[in-house]
Amino acid sequence: MVCTSTHASPLAPAWLSRPEDANALRPQLWAQDVRRADSGELTVAGIGVAEHKAQFGTPLFVLSEADFRARAREFKDAFDAAFGDLCGGVDVYYAGKSFLCTEVARWVDQEGLRLDTCSGGELAVAARAGLSGEKLGLHGNNKSDAELNRALDMGLGRIVVDSLEELARLADLAAARGDRANVMLRLTPGVHAHTHGFIATAHVDQKFGLSMEASGNGGPGAQQERSPAAEAVARALAAPSINLLGLHCHIGSQIFEPEGFALAAERLLAFLAQVRKDHGVDLPELDLGGGYGIAYTEEDTPRPPAELARAMAAVVRAACARLAIPVPRISIEPGRAIVGPTTFTLYEAGTRKTVNVESGGGGTSPRRYVSVDGGMSDNARPVLYDADYSAVLASRVTEAEPIISRVVGKHCESGDIVVRDVYLPEDVSAGDLLAVPATGAYCWSLASNYNYVARPPVVAVRDGQARLIIRGETEADLLARDMG
Ligand SMILES: *Cc1c(COP(=O)(O)O)cnc(C)c1O
Repeated sequence: MVCTSTHASPLAPAWLSRPEDANALRPQLWAQDVRRADSGELTVAGIGVAEHKAQFGTPLFVLSEADFRARAREFKDAFDAAFGDLCGGVDVYYAGKSFLCTEVARWVDQEGLRLDTCSGGELAVAARAGLSGEKLGLHGNNKSDAELNRALDMGLGRIVVDSLEELARLADLAAARGDRANVMLRLTPGVHAHTHGFIATAHVDQKFGLSMEASGNGGPGAQQERSPAAEAVARALAAPSINLLGLHCHIGSQIFEPEGFALAAERLLAFLAQVRKDHGVDLPELDLGGGYGIAYTEEDTPRPPAELARAMAAVVRAACARLAIPVPRISIEPGRAIVGPTTFTLYEAGTRKTVNVESGGGGTSPRRYVSVDGGMSDNARPVLYDADYSAVLASRVTEAEPIISRVVGKHCESGDIVVRDVYLPEDVSAGDLLAVPATGAYCWSLASNYNYVARPPVVAVRDGQARLIIRGETEADLLARDMG
């Protein structure tokens, strides 16, 4: 039996509904100023996708500046409101690794946020954007001396120290220059959160952070009777070249529920109470990391930042009261939740195939393959994480029936999938433009030159104006480092 296309395809995953109208946009997937024009064309901030294609080519990352600024402000305002009477507000560090360029760094600064970096290269972008060092953080489990020295040169607001070895190295580097390093200690609270749940353990089998367990591996020189985290606090407090600000954790990514953040906060606050007992010191800061989830498909329903902020503030308030410690200044580090939904990737469709796939009971069902002019070089997340995305026909609307489709790239890998499962109109064909929403985070930043494919440009759109914020690579760029 071959299923007709008026029913849900047996090839579709359970979460994917067959759209009544394949031209419709689901608002939670798109930047706030993306619409269908009367002509049927997708527009953002008033500019149609055909114009983008004509001016910048495809593939193209199209980023709404208003949407970015609005999401950045929403986080800042929501957490300031929830934590205002507890600790005077919250410092929001935008996680630069999700997507960073000088223009974005300036927006972050202008909206009152700070910036998290995790390499010398990301610090270089922040410096070029003119951000002052106090507003920057530096992460990483293996920072080089050069990176630490650069952080000290720039007067960084916080260096998030990840190991006892690094703490000793940083103390020496700072002492040698008569400097004092602002330090947060990254702890592993034993909470791993992902999307709809979390795992809470004591032992943490991963490369980041300092274990809070006495038997945790702190590396050479760790004393066994104290946890690596407790040892790091003692050494940091004793080192004249270290200004210990507080504790940090980051429990995962694409998290929708507040419980994981809350449990991590409780564990770190209990640790702060222990620090007070052992050392008579109240560390002034606590960073609860990033990982706030976004909608990639209809399956995802993120909560508004205000709701998460209120839930987290309630837990922090209660825990500090119970432990009888002052509420530390809270910071958070959202990346994806600020930039992810601001951007869609515009592709041109090319080759089309229909394959008949066994769909149980001896029957087959058609699956449409639509190739686009990019792929895993501009979006590695489906390959890396099995990530799901969605797509729409962007250059026009159509009455054609939706057919279960797979959007694939042009690379020499059968795993080169952009959108695994989506209903696209049956008549999508070569030359049509497709838009894949929610590609603002970890797409451009993870882009590669696989198959000598040039990395796409990023265009920022605002008030009917489009401007390149990162130009696309040329063939000359691709050959520039080849020494012949
Ligand atoms: C990746 C990362 C973030 C940001 O994660 P998102 O999922 O983009 O919010 C924040 N903090 C640290 C330490 C990270 O490694």
